[in-house]
Parts: sequence; C-alpha cells; structure tokens
Amino acid sequence: MGRREAILAEMGLAPVWRLKKRLSVEEKAAPPPTEVANAWIELKQLVSGCVKCGLHKTRTQTVFGVGDPHAQWMLIGEAPGAEEDRLGDPFVGQAGRLLDNMLAAIGLDRSKNVYIANVLKCRPPGNRNPEPGEAAKCSPHLLRQIELLNPKLILAMGRFAAQTLLETDASIASLRGRLHSYAGRPCIVTYHPAYLLRNLPDKAKAWADLVFARKTMASL
Ligand code: URA
Repeated sequence: MGRREAILAEMGLAPVWRLKKRLSVEEKAAPPPTEVANAWIELKQLVSGCVKCGLHKTRTQTVFGVGDPHAQWMLIGEAPGAEEDRLGDPFVGQAGRLLDNMLAAIGLDRSKNVYIANVLKCRPPGNRNPEPGEAAKCSPHLLRQIELLNPKLILAMGRFAAQTLLETDASIASLRGRLHSYAGRPCIVTYHPAYLLRNLPDKAKAWADLVFARKTMASL
C-alpha cells in the first residue's frame, strides 16, 4: 500500500477509488475483443449450417470469408466458384490470384490488412448467376460480417455485388469513380477480377478504381 492509500485507510476512507482512464467514444461503443472474436466464431458456425436457400443442397461447403478480422478494407465479390466451393475460401482460383496481385500493388494483403467475402456464401451450381432471392436470404450473414469487421471502406467487385449492395441496376461503368454507401460504410465499385481476366484492357480502369479507393481511404 502506498503512503497516500495508507493515510486514507487510516482515515477509514479505504478502499481507494482511483479515477478511471477516460474512454474514447470508440472504446465505449466497441464490445470487448473476446466478445467480437466469439461473435465471429458463432457467425461462421451459423453460416456453415445455413439452409435458408436451395444452394445448401448442392454446395460442398460454405465459403465464409478470409482475411484480417481487424482490416479496414473489406472486399465483396459475388459468390464462390468451383475452386472456392472445394477449398472453402473466397477467390482462390485464377481470379483470386489476379486480385491478390492487384492488392499487393497498393500494399494490401489478404493475410494482413484486408477482409474478403462474397454476397453469397454458397456456390450457385454450374456457375450460374446468383438469384435475387438467394442474395436476399444470404444478406444478413454479410451484414453481420460488416458489423463485426467494421471496415472503413468497402470495395464491391463486379456487377452482381455492386448492384445487389447498392440496390440498383445501373452499370458498373456508371457506378465507378464515385463514393457510395452500403450498411453505413463508404463503398466503391470496381470490376470483378474474373471479368478483368477476360477483358484485359479494362485492367487500367480497375487500377484507377484502386487508386481512387486508396486515396479515399487515406481521407477517412
Ligand atoms: N468469384 C467471386 O465472386 N467470388 C469468389 O470467391 C470467387 C470467384
């Protein structure tokens, strides 16, 4: 016991109440880290058992998401393909390799400072396009991921992700280069890496989108 505490105890004023460190607004609002970690585990379990749409009948496994759970960047694609369905992680095929290279060019890495997820957590069979009803049933999972991650910026990749998140049928071309909002977070639209593999000249536009995103992130 220090001298001050000893004197206060002698005066019958123990226990000594110390002034608490003033918490910032973020510290007050944020749940403790273990709570968030547990919530991630619970969500992943919930998703792995999800039977809300017909895709559970044909999936090998759900594809939850990958990356740093503290990342400021969140990238959202369309739905798992065959490789993702087989391996359980998003963007692990050829499109994923292109994505990783593009991210590396702006200093991002899915194992360090980015979180990657899809609108749909299950593969549409035969690589067909996702149906709006499937996206609607799956969206609570994505919204919960966003809530837990609390990203500073969302990058919607491709027509399906952009149109679903922004609830529009506008083209990617008209949505690029502007700051949108999804789930209360700034959201930028860019091309899907699989599209870029088929349309190489548009890589320059995707690069411009990433530069715009990086500049936006720096200003947030
Ligand atoms: N395309 C996507 O949109 N997501 C993946 O995970 C893989 C390919």
